[in-house]
Amino acid sequence: MSHTMSETNNLIKGHTGLWEVVIGLEVHAQVVSKAKLFSGSSTDFGADPNTQVSFLDAGMPGMLPVINSVCVDQAIKTGLGLNGIINLVSVFDRKNYFYADLPTGYQISQFTHPIVTGGYLDIDLEEGKSKRIAITRIHLEQDAGKSTHDLHPNFSYIDLNRAGIALMEIVSEPDMRSPSEAMAYVKKLRSILRYLGSCDGNMEQGSLRADANISLRRPGEPLGTRAEIKNVNSVRFLGQALDYEIARQLEILEDGGEIVQETRLFDHNKGETRSMRNKEDAHDYRYFPDPDLRPLIVSKERIEKIKQNMPELPDVKKARFIEEYGLTSYDASVLVAEQEIAFYYESVVKSSGSKDSHQAAKLIANWLIGEVFGAMNRENVDIKSLPFKEQNLAELVDLIIDGTISGKIAKDVFVNMWKTGKSPQSLVKELGLEQISDPSLIENVIEKILTEQAAKVEEYRSGKPQLFGFFIGLVMKELQGKANPSLVNEILKKKL
Ligand code: ADP
Ligand code: MG
Repeated sequence: MSHTMSETNNLIKGHTGLWEVVIGLEVHAQVVSKAKLFSGSSTDFGADPNTQVSFLDAGMPGMLPVINSVCVDQAIKTGLGLNGIINLVSVFDRKNYFYADLPTGYQISQFTHPIVTGGYLDIDLEEGKSKRIAITRIHLEQDAGKSTHDLHPNFSYIDLNRAGIALMEIVSEPDMRSPSEAMAYVKKLRSILRYLGSCDGNMEQGSLRADANISLRRPGEPLGTRAEIKNVNSVRFLGQALDYEIARQLEILEDGGEIVQETRLFDHNKGETRSMRNKEDAHDYRYFPDPDLRPLIVSKERIEKIKQNMPELPDVKKARFIEEYGLTSYDASVLVAEQEIAFYYESVVKSSGSKDSHQAAKLIANWLIGEVFGAMNRENVDIKSLPFKEQNLAELVDLIIDGTISGKIAKDVFVNMWKTGKSPQSLVKELGLEQISDPSLIENVIEKILTEQAAKVEEYRSGKPQLFGFFIGLVMKELQGKANPSLVNEILKKKL
């Protein structure tokens, strides 16, 4: 990459001076609902092509759309979760364009009166910093079908299973200033949607995809001309596509050229974006209110009812974890990113019988983030199918806190617990791993070793304090790693 981005103010240094990156994202989130937005067809992923298509989805004449109230509730919930205003009246419009996988010749969307206006979310940046990104609007619309052009030399294939599935288009203000802010935005948005249960956030299956708008400008100047990168379906690709786009636009601008407003596609195999088409303007689509649908009216009571059933969202949960369990900001954000992990964490904390509940909560967080996540990654297991009982993780931590085993031995117990599903207590007994905390026993071993190592002892005393670790190692080895480390430390110091 030819440019460098400074850490502090996100400005880019070109050879003609400084540039500011401006990014706004339009995210398409597939609504969690059994049926499509205006028909009763199933939305299940992975069915045989064209098996989930009603006459309406296929664009047959005379079919009338009927709004699916589940999708409306999901959009309201999402609007509330993203701090927006829920509009009591919104309107469905026809967005007209021709494409083979759009049999009606138009997409039903919302243009002038979306269901949600305004809102924001706070993205998490490095060093526990956060930044508020404003949301312009959220509207409901239909997805199109899927075309496949590479299965046959002369034909394209069309699958209409996706046609008519409800999408929420979530549009941000151009508030992001770097690819990493854009990546943090998608991550946070995905996390919130998953908490709300309004979108499963599965980017590989296309349930969440982002159009990234990006431009450069001189600091303080009005917005520059943007390019739009369509349909990016992974956070990593988003970062790569934006990096590429910054370098491309920078080169053009620094040479005195102009950016063409256009739609581009990211080719992740080549790591570059390329032009797809010139950008349409809204008037090209000839939007008009769909005459088959009345304006969508939602009552205040309906909104109130949804408000009452909102889950605790990640930011609030994070603050509570810090406050209630004394976690660091970093640990708390790792644990709240996925709701299931957060639930699991709290439930382990509740099963701990340790008297020092703060210490237990912190230790459980460490174990979860360290050993448990590590093993989950290695073994490709998710939090729902761990091979040991929840209480057993609490029990393991309790054994460390009450001094029955050291943290080091606990790692062996954990490996065994993962393999056998047995409880830590029974494993400690079975394998004879109890920590040795008998001072006289430890003292005997230390005396024996110091006698054997008389020469080294001499060296230590004549000014080689770094040998301390050497003695610790020998004592631990003699006691098979089971000695209480702080006791060994203490007695060894005394003896030396
Ligand atoms: P559309 O792309 O459908 O024409 P808009 O013009 O409202 O819709 O813009 C869509 C997205 O582009 C928004 O997320 C907005 O923040 C972002 N955007 C608009 N202008 C710029 C710009 N000059 N640079 C970067 N992003 C921009
Ligand atoms: Mg757009």
